[in-house]
Amino acid sequence: MSLFDLKGRVALVTGGNGGIGLGMAQGLAAAGADIVVAGRNVAKSEAAAKTLASLGVRTAAVEVDVADEKSAKAMVDASVAKMGRLDILINNAGIAIRKRPEDYKMSEWREVLSINLDGAFYCSHAAQPAMKASGGGKIINIGSMLSIFGAPYAAPYAASKGGIVQLTKALATAWSVDNIQVNAVLPGWIDTELTQRAREQVDGLHNNVLKRTPAGRWGEPTDFAGIAVFLASKASDFVTGAAIAVDGGFSIQG
Ligand code: NDP
Repeated sequence: MSLFDLKGRVALVTGGNGGIGLGMAQGLAAAGADIVVAGRNVAKSEAAAKTLASLGVRTAAVEVDVADEKSAKAMVDASVAKMGRLDILINNAGIAIRKRPEDYKMSEWREVLSINLDGAFYCSHAAQPAMKASGGGKIINIGSMLSIFGAPYAAPYAASKGGIVQLTKALATAWSVDNIQVNAVLPGWIDTELTQRAREQVDGLHNNVLKRTPAGRWGEPTDFAGIAVFLASKASDFVTGAAIAVDGGFSIQG
């Protein structure tokens, strides 16, 4: 069996119906994993599941609002019922609301924290028993450059993504005993629906990203296929609690 072979493994990807989540799901499916796509928009999730099935793996779509604890638990139960097991969880669902700190309504602050941070914990908490039962698992949390840096337009987002890195370390230390590796991926600036709005809302963003990124381009969802396979496979069995930037060098630019 190759280090990167995922045949017989089942992956659940929140927010897997588009953007970075779909890019990761495509990588996992190409390596042989069966995929459950989860999101609020059922039609979009079903379309993504259909596309992934063309790679020759079993797929399913499940409706979830990760900010709702019961919904997160129901998503995991439905995935196990449909696929028979759960080996890989990607906590990718996320939103951003961009404004200056003093302009946020408290409901907006809560919404971002609930989806981005509470959601990752709810889904991980729901998934751990199934992973433990099958002898181990892989959890991949999605952070951000704002796990590291600050920005005047991203107080709740940065707080949630900083929290994701610490949550990753806490779960990694706790669940090592169950052979569950927990790691975070920190994307740079990636061309998705989320950042199409950012380019409209943040002056000069497009060119500033190009200038600062040594790779000289914005990232694409397909740039996440490789890291997903690595962190979901045997190849990363001794990697846990790490936060790995996939950013074309954005975070090491002096
Ligand atoms: P998209 O907007 O393309 O994708 C976000 C996904 O999250 C959608 O599939 C959406 O599906 C899902 N989602 C949002 N809210 C919920 C919810 N409450 N419950 C379940 N699913 C939800 O954005 P990206 O692909 O860019 O973002 C994916 C992740 O990557 C996010 O965590 C984001 O913060 C992070 N990231 C992105 C960067 C970028 O430059 N693009 C940079 C750094 C981090 P649906 O609408 O169907 O619910």
